[in-house]
Amino acid sequence: PDEVYTERTTQSRAHMERARKVMPGGMTANIKHFAPYPITINRASGSKFYDVDGNEYIDYLMGYGALILGHAHPHVREAIVRQVEEDGTWLFGTPHDREVTMATRIQKHFPSMEQIRYANSGTEANLLAVRLAMAHTNKYKIAKFEGHYHGAIDSLLLSIHPSKSDAGEQEDPQAVPDSGGMSPEVANETIILPFNDIKSCARILEQHKDELAAVIIEPMEGGIIAPKQRFLQQLRKVTNKLGILLIFDEVKTAFRSAMDGVQGVYDVTPDLTTIGKVVGGGFPFGVVGGKATIMEQSSPLNGTDIFAGEDSEASQKALFHSGTYNGHPLILAAGIATLDVLEQEYDALVARTDRFREELTHLFRKHDIPMKTVGSGAMFSVLLTERQEINHYRDLQKCDHDSRKKLDKALFEAGVYTKPGNRYSLSVVHDDEALTKTLEAYDRVIPEVIRY
Ligand code: PMP
Repeated sequence: PDEVYTERTTQSRAHMERARKVMPGGMTANIKHFAPYPITINRASGSKFYDVDGNEYIDYLMGYGALILGHAHPHVREAIVRQVEEDGTWLFGTPHDREVTMATRIQKHFPSMEQIRYANSGTEANLLAVRLAMAHTNKYKIAKFEGHYHGAIDSLLLSIHPSKSDAGEQEDPQAVPDSGGMSPEVANETIILPFNDIKSCARILEQHKDELAAVIIEPMEGGIIAPKQRFLQQLRKVTNKLGILLIFDEVKTAFRSAMDGVQGVYDVTPDLTTIGKVVGGGFPFGVVGGKATIMEQSSPLNGTDIFAGEDSEASQKALFHSGTYNGHPLILAAGIATLDVLEQEYDALVARTDRFREELTHLFRKHDIPMKTVGSGAMFSVLLTERQEINHYRDLQKCDHDSRKKLDKALFEAGVYTKPGNRYSLSVVHDDEALTKTLEAYDRVIPEVIRY
């Protein structure tokens, strides 16, 4: 298959040769890389995009989930153009009314976000959430879950993909750095928890309760693995009891797994929530929100304005939050327009996604290949496995990822794209024609690629 791949992508290869001269590995983000070199895309329309060799693909990557309306949805495009024309700029650097419009709109779906601050990515949002939690509790360790990603933050860049040899027991996962260049100390500052195992979580949290500011969790692991029925409620109970804050990272799941997030579906109220991706309409964006008593620490009205130069006790405890681009008008215009459309079309999108998942499942059954889809709302993964239940990162590890990646690459030739091994993100413009074409491609490719 690699020969077919290189034949169809000669311009992508040439692009990567140029890119590697000026960027490490030719990449601006390591997640974009796969062997021997990724496809270079330079044009998109609706649910499709086109590579530099002129090949057309149905795009299921959708900007790693951000583009829930597809590429350049007319309503979002109009909002962006209108904003620039009416406002006469794309950056004020002052308060402006769309900041409030967006906050109100988010609160309609996420009532737990009583007060809101903006940032420029999910990473930045989590950075602020962690700082708020530490300031609020006067404790300085964080607990996170094995397999969960929260962005490029040293204290959270641990045990996302631990190798089997140093990950520890499933019930007692160890902190393993996911990057070079991190102080060995961070592994001592962060406690690792096992997802969907409340007994082990309660035991570990009890042990560290005096140092722990917060537990941060992807409440739907990786955006695809569902929490067990009462797991999140129990985690809420345990953290409340121990005086540890609970942070839901809904960067992937907000407005994609469900309009009201995983917290809406499972009826759990975290202390802080972070969201991103969809809510930025495809632009760099992140939001932190939560209990007013916690969020208020960042208010300049309570004597914590560090620029005031005051030497009061309050200013010494100042919680710093700033950013040149926070509340960027263009991003808010795109985000609000995205939510406008999504509120109308989300239910139909989910119904279409569910049907598509069912049809894919039937197709694999027809070819007698064990397969399971996991996920919810408009995002799911195709796992090659006989396992009935996927409850945890370690269950995921046991699936046949090699065949899955081969399948994804073979699908390129049939015009179906997701980054090999990645999840499927659908958009409101993935219509029946696109989905049927995808199913036909799978039908051809499965017997060619998977042989057990
Ligand atoms: N948290 C989660 C759950 C994510 O999925 C991501 C990005 N994939 C992030 C945080 C980081 O967001 P960003 O890439 O916008 O920094």
